[in-house]
Amino acid sequence: MIWNPEHECMNVDSLRALQFARLKNLVERVYNTVPFYKEKLDKAGVKPSDIKCLADISKLPFTTKTDLRDTYPYGLLAVPQSEIVEIHMSSGTTGTPVVDAYTAKDLDDWAEGMARTLSGAGATHNDTIQNAYGYGLFTGGMGVHHGARKLGATVIPISSGNTQKQLMLMRDFKSNLFTCTPSYAMYMAEQAKEMGVDVKKLSLRAACLGAEPWSEGMRNQIESAWGIKAYDIYGLTEITGPGVAFECEAQYGMHVNEDLWFPEIIDPETEQPVPDGEKGELVITTITKEGTPLIRYRTRDITFIITEPCACGRTTRKIHRLFGRTDDMLIIRGVNVFPSQIENALVDIQGVEPNYLIVVNRNEETHLDEAELHVEVSAEQFTDETKGMEALRNTISSVMKSKLGIMLKVKLVEPKSIERSTGKAKRVIDNRKL
Ligand code: ADP
Ligand code: ZN
Repeated sequence: MIWNPEHECMNVDSLRALQFARLKNLVERVYNTVPFYKEKLDKAGVKPSDIKCLADISKLPFTTKTDLRDTYPYGLLAVPQSEIVEIHMSSGTTGTPVVDAYTAKDLDDWAEGMARTLSGAGATHNDTIQNAYGYGLFTGGMGVHHGARKLGATVIPISSGNTQKQLMLMRDFKSNLFTCTPSYAMYMAEQAKEMGVDVKKLSLRAACLGAEPWSEGMRNQIESAWGIKAYDIYGLTEITGPGVAFECEAQYGMHVNEDLWFPEIIDPETEQPVPDGEKGELVITTITKEGTPLIRYRTRDITFIITEPCACGRTTRKIHRLFGRTDDMLIIRGVNVFPSQIENALVDIQGVEPNYLIVVNRNEETHLDEAELHVEVSAEQFTDETKGMEALRNTISSVMKSKLGIMLKVKLVEPKSIERSTGKAKRVIDNRKL
C-alpha cells in the first residue's frame, strides 16, 4: 500500500519544483538563524540568492559529523529552544554525541517517513507492529513508534532484547510485523529454534530491518527462517532517524522520501556529484527540517541511485542496498573490503553461520596489515575431527579469495561463540594503532 500517493507518486517535474522551493527556503532560514551556517556560507562565498535552481545545491558547502560534534549540544538550532519537543543522539560511536533536535512539525515529518516505510512493507492500521528496536536516545525505537502511531497500527513498544518475551508477545498478540536490526532478527530465530518455538506458525508476515549493513544472503536466511518478507530500511540520527528510505514490494532498492530529505551522490575523494547510477557517498539535505536542519550532510554511506523506474508506482528515486560506510571499509593489502561482502560470501558456504568477526592486526615486524576472519561453524557441522575442519577452512579461504580478491587467514570457532547482538552487531575488531 502507498501511504501518501500525492507525494510518493508525484509527477517528477512537480517534485523537483517542490524540492527547489523547500531548498531555497531552507538556505534562507539557516543563513538568517544559525551563525554556524552564515559563517560557512560566507566563507564559501555563497549567498541564499545564489540558489536559483535545484542544481545550484552543488554550490553549497558540505556539513560533516565533525561539524555536528563541534556544535554540541545546541549549536545548530535554527529555532528557539522552546519550540523543540524531543531530542535524540547518535548511539554507537564514541566521543561527543551528535544531537538531533525536533520541533512538533519535525516529529510529524519523521512519523510520515516511517508511516510510508511501514506501508512499503505492507502494514496497515489493522496490523500489530512489534517494535524490537531499542527505545531511548537511539532513533530506531521512537522512530518506528511515531510512524506506527501515524499509521494507526497497534504498536508493541517492547524495545530490543528479552527474546523469550519477544516470542511470547508475538504469539499472544499475533504480531504481523516486527522491526529490529537484521542481526537481532537472526539471533531471535536462532533462539526460537533452541526454545522449540516454531516461528513459522506465528502471524508474522514481514519485518522492517535496518540500522546496520546486511546482505542479500542474510535477507534470504532471515526470510526462510521466519517465513516472512524482510524489508531493508534506512536512516540515520543526524538526518532525523529511520524512515529516510525504505523498500517497497519490489525489494530492490530503497525509495528515498525525497520531498523531505534530498539525496545526492558524490565522489568522496573529489567531492563532486556523480551521475545517477554511479556508486559514491550519499549526501543528504533536510529540506523541511526546522529544529536542526542540515545542508549537504556527508553520511559516509556508500550506495548509488537506481535509475530504472519502480514497478510499484512510486516516483521517488531509489538508492541501492548500502555497500557499507567509508569509515567501515577495511583496506587489506590495498584491497577495499566491506564487512557485508564477507557476510554475503559466507552465507553461500555449507556448514558455517553468517556470524563472523574480522580481527585486524598490524604485524610488528613487517608492518603489514593482517586480517583474520573468525567464522562460526554450525552445530551440525562441528566435529573434533581435524580433517573435516581443515577442509572447511580451505573452502572459506578459497571462496574469499575468489569473491574478494584477497587471502584471509581463517579461524573456525565453536558454534554460538561469537557474541550476539540485540542491536547493532560488531563485526570488526581493529587492533591497529593508526
Ligand atoms: P551511529 O551508529 O553512528 O550511532 P545511527 O544509529 O544513526 O548512528 O546509525 C546510522 C547509520 O547506520 C547509517 O549512517 C548507516 O551507516 C547505518 N545504517 C542504517 N540503516 C542501514 C541499512 N538499512 N543498511 C546499511 N546500513 C544502515
Ligand atoms: Zn517501488
